[in-house]
Amino acid sequence: MKGSFRLGTIGGIGVFIHWTFSILILFIMFSSYRSGQDASQMLWMVAFVLCIFGTVFLHELGHATAAKRYHIKTKDITLLPIGGVARLERMPEKPSEELVVALAGPAVNVVIAVVCSLLVVFPETQQQAEEQLMSGINADNFLLNFFMINIWLSVFNLIPAFPMDGGRVLRALLSMRIPRVKATLIAARTGQILAAGFVFAGFYVNPFLIFIGLFVMLGAQAELESVRTGHVLKGNFTGQITMQKYETLDVNQSIGDAVHKILNGQCKTFLVTDNGHPAGTLNREAIIRALAENGQHARISDVMKPGVMHIESSLPVEEAYRKMTEQRTDMAVITENGQMTGVLDTENILEFVMIKNALEKNETVA
Ligand SMILES: [Zn+2]
Repeated sequence: MKGSFRLGTIGGIGVFIHWTFSILILFIMFSSYRSGQDASQMLWMVAFVLCIFGTVFLHELGHATAAKRYHIKTKDITLLPIGGVARLERMPEKPSEELVVALAGPAVNVVIAVVCSLLVVFPETQQQAEEQLMSGINADNFLLNFFMINIWLSVFNLIPAFPMDGGRVLRALLSMRIPRVKATLIAARTGQILAAGFVFAGFYVNPFLIFIGLFVMLGAQAELESVRTGHVLKGNFTGQITMQKYETLDVNQSIGDAVHKILNGQCKTFLVTDNGHPAGTLNREAIIRALAENGQHARISDVMKPGVMHIESSLPVEEAYRKMTEQRTDMAVITENGQMTGVLDTENILEFVMIKNALEKNETVA
């Protein structure tokens, strides 16, 4: 993730911390200073926050360890002020596996809370408890607070809303009975309704809830779209949507020629050829940029994106799309038995998704 710093590596998984984390620490120091606490109380507070993030890290490691059971690698773990993110190579699609992976995180918090509860001296009255929890962190109430935080973390993460673990738990449970896309839709909508509730409550209770609400809303939408795209593309191969008609530019042509082609057609991405062989790609944005920076006499070979991705026509569209977005390439050459059969661009894939979506809607109406 952008703005993250590597802390280290554990079991082949990179561990990162996001820079906004420092804001959280400063915020805590500032608010404990404002409430008139001394340096030692402030240090206890900072130590407490660091312990929380140790917990968040263990929570993410819980997900990663469970995923490993299903041979799914974890790319990295990033700690953010609002929690951690473990980037798994992929999410298990089998509901029972997704359920285990999603529950493994909160389960870590439950285990920590149970261990704490064995060591903590619980206050006897409600009043004592409130006093202890309100008086800032110190040696006496450190464990009690840590216990409470872990209870809170497990409950908070089980809110049935994407991108919370609870959203995945709900989706996994639902998809044991109904199709995954429908299950995702229900889980995402539930999440968005809850998120709207958070935002609303945020205005009256704690502005932090507004922040969480928006985070949940966006996360739910993103999850829904990615599952929908994956579902729509499933069962289709790149050979089926290969474009036989496409525009080319020769490496020896100029930006002026490219501009001419843009004005005369609707092509957004060009295949650049050298002696008739694919040598690179060039899209509209790059042409306009090159025109401004290098003028219209610049040669295509100097401004193109060199190299072309080759994709076999038997590759599922879903995988081709993932490959292309990972490599940030707009266009790939499609081959069949080593022979070029056409090209595929990401725009074309998205059009295909839209068309299939529209057809599916039409079917459900009919
Ligand atoms: Zn989690």
